[in-house]
Amino acid sequence: MTTSTTDWTTAKLESLVRPNLLNLKAYSSARSEFKGVAEVLLDANESPWETGSNRYPDPLSTDLRVALGQYKHFNPDQIVFGNGSDELVDQITRIFCNPGDAVHALPPTFGMYKVAAGIAAAEFRATNLSPDFTIPVAELKSAWDEKSKILWLCSPNNPSGNAIDPAVLEDLIRSFPGIVVLDEAYIDFVPELSFLPRLAEFPNLIITQTLSKGWGMAGIRLGAAFAAPFIIRMLNTIKMPYNINVLTRGLALEALRAPQKMQVKVDTLIAERNRLAEELAALDCVDHIFPSVTNFLLVRFKDAARVYQYLLDQGIVVRNQSYQPNAENCLRITAGLAAENDRLLQALRTL
Ligand SMILES: *Cc1c(COP(=O)(O)O)cnc(C)c1O
Repeated sequence: MTTSTTDWTTAKLESLVRPNLLNLKAYSSARSEFKGVAEVLLDANESPWETGSNRYPDPLSTDLRVALGQYKHFNPDQIVFGNGSDELVDQITRIFCNPGDAVHALPPTFGMYKVAAGIAAAEFRATNLSPDFTIPVAELKSAWDEKSKILWLCSPNNPSGNAIDPAVLEDLIRSFPGIVVLDEAYIDFVPELSFLPRLAEFPNLIITQTLSKGWGMAGIRLGAAFAAPFIIRMLNTIKMPYNINVLTRGLALEALRAPQKMQVKVDTLIAERNRLAEELAALDCVDHIFPSVTNFLLVRFKDAARVYQYLLDQGIVVRNQSYQPNAENCLRITAGLAAENDRLLQALRTL
């Protein structure tokens, strides 16, 4: 079942969408109906006193799309925001999956793909990554069929920390019979690996990114999807009109005006991650440290359950990934401030 990108007509993309959504009319907000200069706003039952938050936000977050488009060198008309990329994962699943359709993912990976499939009553088909966390391409390809709607690829991957080989990525995007979503939540730690500059080559590709990780803004909940115009239209059709609130928009605009501040923090975290990897490797309780291009490390311990509980007792919380395939005895450790990382190392030295 191999298709080349040239086969992706709009009609073919449309055939992947749940039929009832193709003619669905999006909610038309008071603010999006008028054209012209707004001097007196008596259209939306808002409070008239200017407080910075008395007006409904722009449903299309236009200024934010322009700012992000400028920073990413990407067409703002092909961007949609979600209340975190979590929301986009759910929306994308609901656009393409009828109950019984299949989505594919490669555990160990991010948990929301499976949750979203469960909500949409879609079948979650897991093809485990190989023990070195590369993709078993032939096995994955043999798992998809005419029910397959979405392939979730996460690069760099959470929790393994590695990125997908670009040649493998390209092959999978070209050969998958449905929509490929590339989750680039950690791309700010390795921007040179982003597929965003190549998105136009792949009409069936959606890329998602977030301000939650490298940008340090998990609390404002802002994720972005980048895709071909037809897919953007569908995302705008089903999204709640005011999913991005004015406080989020304001803080995100401010951050995008000073990307060098983000860069300094990203560089600091990369250095701390490398230091952690080096110092952890010298500890007796550590068995293996997987290479990472993110702000976290997946570490195999000799007895992860014991280390996990011991750290908790010391007031240090890491994430136990032992339940995930090929991640037995593994803990995921986020790089923190130097002093926090020191505390972790000190605790482990006295284990
Ligand atoms: C953290 C994370 C996200 C969640 O991003 P939000 O924008 O905070 O919802 C998405 N994908 C992966 C792989 C993540 O690790």
